[in-house]
Amino acid sequence: MERRKTRKIKVGNVEIGGDAPIVVQSMTSTKTADIDKTLFQIKRLAEAGCEIVRVAVPHEEDAEALEEIVKNSPIPVIADIHFAPSYAFKSMEKGVHGIRINPGNIGKEDIVREIVEEANIKGVCIRIGVNSGSLEKDILEKYGYPSSEALAESALRWAEKFDKWGFYNFKVSIKASDVVENIKANLIFARETDVPLHIGITEAGMGKKGIIKSSVGIGILLYLGIGDTIRVSLTDDPVEEVETAYTILQSLGLRRRGIEVVSCPTCGRIEVDLPPIVREVEEKLKNIKKPIKIAIMGCVVNAIGEAKEADIGLACGRGFAWLFKEGKPVKRVEERDMAEELLKEVRSMLGETGDGHKI
Ligand code: SF4
Repeated sequence: MERRKTRKIKVGNVEIGGDAPIVVQSMTSTKTADIDKTLFQIKRLAEAGCEIVRVAVPHEEDAEALEEIVKNSPIPVIADIHFAPSYAFKSMEKGVHGIRINPGNIGKEDIVREIVEEANIKGVCIRIGVNSGSLEKDILEKYGYPSSEALAESALRWAEKFDKWGFYNFKVSIKASDVVENIKANLIFARETDVPLHIGITEAGMGKKGIIKSSVGIGILLYLGIGDTIRVSLTDDPVEEVETAYTILQSLGLRRRGIEVVSCPTCGRIEVDLPPIVREVEEKLKNIKKPIKIAIMGCVVNAIGEAKEADIGLACGRGFAWLFKEGKPVKRVEERDMAEELLKEVRSMLGETGDGHKI
């Protein structure tokens, strides 16, 4: 899959666009002014693989808290600003690496330009957010409703202004909660410019439904080569967003992080109790960061092929399995020992340190 050619920008020390890997972002759900809780969540997010974090700045006290948060955060921090330009200036004064604004709800163009000039001086990256709730009046009148064309036009308009003002360290996000509108709007924008895109399905919802909706929307765009940084938005623990983001990227071969387990759905041919084995392996290896592909297959039908493709694999027979390593069967293991024998091999692949985690 060929990625769209975009200009490279930087949020703190993290590169986005150009030949940089697709960056995973998330957003804290704590009150930003609660510095300890916010930093604790940022550290959990970073541990899960989050590379840039956004925090909400709805009040003065949140902006005040940013200095301490930025100082102690292991990853770059973006301040999320709506309606109040003064918090954008205050956030930049407190050292944030990026700000996200919806120019449509900042009000006057002069003020947007002042924010841009300050960001230029301070080396702060800006994300231009465009969504259906903050479209300009004339665009809404032209299209009658916040269609994908309307969203794309608004985003292009602001991107052109930023370029004209000589500011290039910015990206754009066009978010609609409707998956098809979202994809169409991003496609239109992507055709017209090399500005990096932050993609995601806004307000995707909770649990399985939110994950599916995000995976479809983000997955299609990524497959079309669009998207330089992603955020999965879920009504859930943000760590879940990061794990989902990596699973999406991994399934498209765009990033590899942690354990990838390929396991069969099981059927009438199976002769071992597979689900508890898969569950145990997934659970015990969930914190491992090193990319390792594991295949756990119920019978010989697909097992040999899949196990050969994986770093380690189990190809099950009646009450036993062949353990495969780098494509070759290394030993026969009984059903009761299958999970443990597999984990032993993973431990030896990770070496003494266990990748920093006890397995
Ligand atoms: S690998 Fe074997 S047991 Fe598993 S689903 Fe396929 S045919 Fe069924």
